[in-house]
Amino acid sequence: MSIISDSLKRIKPSPTIAVTQKARELRAKGKDVISLGAGEPDFDTPQNIKNAAIKAIKKGETKYTAVDGTPLLKKAIIAKFKRENKLNYTLDQITVGSGGKQVLYNTFMATLNKGDEVIIPAPFWVSYPDMVLLAGGKPKIIRCTEKEGFKLTPKKLKKSITKKTKWVIINSPSNPTGAGYSKKEIQDLAKVLINNKKINILSDDIYEHVRYDNFDFFTIAQLTKLKNRTLTMNGVSKSYSMTGWRIGYAAGPKNIIQAIRKIQSQSTSNPSSISQAAAVEALNGKQDFIKIRSNAFKARRDYVVKSLNNIKGISCLKPNGAFYVFPSCKGLLNKKTKLKNDTDFVQKLLEKKNVAVVQGSAFGLDGFFRISYATSMKNLKKAMERIKLFCNSLNR
Ligand code: PLP
Repeated sequence: MSIISDSLKRIKPSPTIAVTQKARELRAKGKDVISLGAGEPDFDTPQNIKNAAIKAIKKGETKYTAVDGTPLLKKAIIAKFKRENKLNYTLDQITVGSGGKQVLYNTFMATLNKGDEVIIPAPFWVSYPDMVLLAGGKPKIIRCTEKEGFKLTPKKLKKSITKKTKWVIINSPSNPTGAGYSKKEIQDLAKVLINNKKINILSDDIYEHVRYDNFDFFTIAQLTKLKNRTLTMNGVSKSYSMTGWRIGYAAGPKNIIQAIRKIQSQSTSNPSSISQAAAVEALNGKQDFIKIRSNAFKARRDYVVKSLNNIKGISCLKPNGAFYVFPSCKGLLNKKTKLKNDTDFVQKLLEKKNVAVVQGSAFGLDGFFRISYATSMKNLKKAMERIKLFCNSLNR
């Protein structure tokens, strides 16, 4: 009999973390690897946020806090939702966890019964299906094509709903495609959901602050008729370059928030007290960092999209948010190139040219790959040159 639980057999390790790890190993062996696999900003955490953490340590804020967040942080989160999204919440409608990842994990553990279905539009963030599986639920993957801008359409949403549907996930701007849903697109999805009163909506807004070209961010809880069925998850990781601090949060119905607290109280307890103090400063402090950083990301996005579209066999949409692009490599999958699928493509690219990217199939859509451009322009230039050389060698 195996010591490992059966539930673990249902899931796999995160493929994006695996790619980053592989790149690290190759680098340790002396290879000049450029990793475009990581999902984290390369910018440092702003100094005012670091100072707040140092102050918290000096003041002795080093003890357990309330399980799902200090009142001070919850108040900062409430103020954020009011200021940026025109949404009103009370303290008992807010939860804070060790990263958005923990908040999502707790949500599924707290709400799913065996066989409950969760609608996940693909391409998706790699952790959604596995978290759902671990909690005993059933991921219902809906493939959204490049032609659809990689976004869920009302028609596909309607078709995928069954009596067992408990959640639908909306992630905008998206990991891995960077696609953002406009207000109109959200409203159109909402028309389907309003009549299906048993379905809850999980809005993953973690990339809210990474957006370009005046893309007008809109989150589904802003629609009054759906607010009481929506859990809106967000966090400081991507917005404030705080991935290592591990603070994520959500706002939503009291009963779900209460259930999440119960799970957290029996697992990790509160997120780090120091990180919570830092997150208060991130949310309440000056916000100019966001704009400066978005401008830098925009220049990189423009460069990467243009470079990719100049390569024969590759085509790439220009996304309006996050720091990823999701180009197609279908033009290079054929007998001549001897590449059967996107996994072959990314493996050969790493092997031949030392560039690490992630295969689209890891995100539920084959024939594509994900590039994270959250790295220096210098690295990106080198990487694009290598990808071009690699693809040209295949075309020959
Ligand atoms: N949601 C999406 C779409 C993500 O890409 C990530 C991180 O990569 C998360 C949630 C979780 O972020 P964190 O746990 O760092 O807050």
